[in-house]
Amino acid sequence: MRSPSSKDQLVDIKSLDLSGVERFLVSIGEPKERGLRVYKQLWQKGVRTFDEMNTIAKTTRKKLNETAYISFLEVQSIFDSSDGTKKFLWKLPSGGVVESVLIPDENRDGGLSDRLTLCVSSQWGCAMKCSFCLTGDLGLRGQLSAAQIANQPLQVSQHIDKRITNIVMMGMGEPLHNYQNLILSLRNMLHNDALNFSHRKVTVSTVGLVPAIKKLAQDLPVNIAISLNATTEEQRRQVMPITSKYSMAELLDTCRNLPLPAGKRITFEYVMMAGFNDSLEDAQRIFALLQGIPSKVNLIPYNENPNRTIKRPTQEDVKQFQHYLVSRGLHCSVRTTRGIDISAACGQLGKGKTPSVSR
Ligand code: SAH
Repeated sequence: MRSPSSKDQLVDIKSLDLSGVERFLVSIGEPKERGLRVYKQLWQKGVRTFDEMNTIAKTTRKKLNETAYISFLEVQSIFDSSDGTKKFLWKLPSGGVVESVLIPDENRDGGLSDRLTLCVSSQWGCAMKCSFCLTGDLGLRGQLSAAQIANQPLQVSQHIDKRITNIVMMGMGEPLHNYQNLILSLRNMLHNDALNFSHRKVTVSTVGLVPAIKKLAQDLPVNIAISLNATTEEQRRQVMPITSKYSMAELLDTCRNLPLPAGKRITFEYVMMAGFNDSLEDAQRIFALLQGIPSKVNLIPYNENPNRTIKRPTQEDVKQFQHYLVSRGLHCSVRTTRGIDISAACGQLGKGKTPSVSR
């Protein structure tokens, strides 16, 4: 067998799903059946070298060493928020930096619940250019590979030595704008012999890339969240340029016709910006727009930052808005701001420097 000289010629085995690993083993003259054992070592044990795969024959390991490598993310730094949120910065080989945010949930009484959510990035930067979002300022700098996406939950979980319970694809980037890699990484997050997340605990959030939403609903049974953020076409176009490509009417129509499993609802995220989209007329319009869609609304009071003049509405305004929807039978929650002191809150990702570093 040819022995490649540089990493470029080797296969990043973590960018394959189980059938990919099986096919790869066959391609190097190994039995397909050995694929499952290799796959489990990669994702369940989280090995970093083939030599650590003690359930795999030495001769197979040797061949794997010659043809593939096991990738993992390099930690640049880890920031701890006073509210228990942790932000992980990963340094990419391309020089880019992307982030994952770990959010322990609070119970109503203020104690910590068992829910541990990881907010995962799908791209370095983002091409969607939503006017209020800081990640958009970077533009799209690079796609994350399937391995770089699924390594985030694997490595964070190893670091904290605890099981993460929920995944939200709400970090940097537009997940549906990196579709193939997203799907591969989700397969490895969901597979019983890999990271073993329940599809009920995995949510993909999108600005509304209509064809990809339809495809996702067919490909995988994960939860779908739509960043709605406005209640008229004109208002949405002002802050989310994607609306010029896929109108809100088309987006909502798509949502209305998705083949959702019984009991599943689509989450509509709504970033509330003072004086822009926080009026009671907006609440009325949301209610009308979501008729016929199994939905729940998640209000996100805008996280202010020095690079924008946008203001967060008052708590009172948020409460009234929520009350309007809830009293008419819509599920509607308000997202609590977490990790603001380490720039880990929604829309702050990519902001860069923050205080209180730990490694
Ligand atoms: N591109 C995907 C995934 C990112 S999710 C999407 O847009 O859905 C990030 C969420 O944070 C989105 O709902 C976005 O609208 C919201 N957001 C962005 N900037 C924000 C800010 N400053 N305050 C509150 N929410 C913000």
